[in-house]
Amino acid sequence: MVEPEARRVSLEPAAFEVQSLEEECSLLGNRCPPCDLVFFPRCHFCTRCSKSGLEEIRLGRKGRLLSFTSGYQKPKHAVVEPPYLVEEIELPERVVVYLLLT
Ligand SMILES: [Zn+2]
Repeated sequence: MVEPEARRVSLEPAAFEVQSLEEECSLLGNRCPPCDLVFFPRCHFCTRCSKSGLEEIRLGRKGRLLSFTSGYQKPKHAVVEPPYLVEEIELPERVVVYLLLT
C-alpha cells in the first residue's frame, strides 16, 4: 500500500501562500508603489490614489501585539473549541491582522 503524500493546502489562496512542508506559510498583501500603502487582504486598487496594478508582497511573519482577549463561549458553527485567544497584531508593513489561537 502506498502512503498518501503529506502536503499543505491553503484554505484561502488569495490570502495565504503555501510552499511546502519545510517552508513556512506567508500572508499575501499588496502595495501601492507611489503611496507605499499596504493592503491585507489584497485590494484591486489603492484606496488613497485609486491606482490599479498594485504589486503583490509577502507580509512579515512577526509583528507587534496590540491587544488580545480570551473567548470562553463557542460561537455557532465555530471550528474552534474554547478557550481560545483573539489577538490583534500589527505587522511590519503597518497592516493589522486578527489571529485566532487555540
Ligand atoms: Zn496609492
